[in-house]
Amino acid sequence: MPDSQNTNIEPQPPLIDPFGRAVTYLRVSVTDRCDFRCVYCMAEDMTFLPKRDLLTLEELDRLCSAFVAKGVRKLRITGGEPLVRRNILSLFEALGRHIDTGALDELTVTTNGSQLERFAVALHDAGVRRINVSLDTLDKAKFKAITRWGEIGKVMTGLKAARDAGLAVKINTVALKGVNEDEIEEILRWSHGEGMDMTLIETMPLGDIDGDRTDQYLPLSMVRANLAERFTLNDIAYKTGGPARYVEVEETGGRLGFITPMTHNFCESCNRVRVTCTGTLYMCLGQDDAADLRAPLRASEGNELLDQAIDEAISRKPEGHDFIIDRRTSRPSVSRHMSVTGG
Ligand code: SAM
Ligand code: SF4
Repeated sequence: MPDSQNTNIEPQPPLIDPFGRAVTYLRVSVTDRCDFRCVYCMAEDMTFLPKRDLLTLEELDRLCSAFVAKGVRKLRITGGEPLVRRNILSLFEALGRHIDTGALDELTVTTNGSQLERFAVALHDAGVRRINVSLDTLDKAKFKAITRWGEIGKVMTGLKAARDAGLAVKINTVALKGVNEDEIEEILRWSHGEGMDMTLIETMPLGDIDGDRTDQYLPLSMVRANLAERFTLNDIAYKTGGPARYVEVEETGGRLGFITPMTHNFCESCNRVRVTCTGTLYMCLGQDDAADLRAPLRASEGNELLDQAIDEAISRKPEGHDFIIDRRTSRPSVSRHMSVTGG
């Protein structure tokens, strides 16, 4: 990516929301497109955004860098599938400079793993050290059924390439009632056996999909209770900057995280905001309030308008969300898809 005038950052006052929480973690969706069609995430015939609506990679760099100047210490690149965006490596390479200068603690990515074989070494070279790979089953046929278009073999090859490149991998598994609930123990033993942490995620009611949400929802409190019958789960203080709460599994020696937006209020310690690939800033995953950063980004070459828009948005960050799966209608309480906001 060519150097722009705004590649160097001028430190700015930190982002503190009305509840005194510092915003230090930015998740950035770089595309809403994906090479999979996971059943809980997208309809098979998803309509994607016109390419002209997307921020360019240069604009994404400018935007992320503006947040880094305002005290963001962790950047997670997500999507859609971030590694299917053309030339995405140049964004990682550009953002890697903030790791080199010490302005950023961590540059990381959430991926479905399909492209990792191709990208693992280059991601490491750009300064990425840990990645999250989403995997809900180890069974080939079930993998196909969940992702519709995915090949588990490619993900496994990608995982090996990632570890060979020196990337620490965390496996993210969405707990799905009647789909993978009887496999969670096996995925846990496998991940930990391979030296990877694992995090379990509850399904969240985001966006219209083809199926019925209430069919998929499996409370992690139940999963945890089942696992506790077979494993010793010791609560630990380990934190990755995200919303997961971790236990150490005594029998495997590995870490297991729980992300429980539905059963547990995880908002008190929220340090995160999200930007979509069109430059819309969401101050809370579970609320519709948003701020457009694309217009101020495009309005001038300097960052003054952008900085103002970010500050103004953070002053509206809500205290928390109220996800509800409406059991009469099964409609989501938030209508945008996870692939738009970025998981
Ligand atoms: N494509 C990448 C991937 O699958 O890892 C990154 C984007 S994906 C939207 C990020 C994470 O969100 C994945 O772990 C996925 O399983 C999860 N996810 C998607 N839709 C979800 C939903 N409705 N509820 C909970 N998690 C969801
Ligand atoms: Fe694609 Fe990730 Fe959504 Fe699956 S969860 S459809 S891999 S964006």
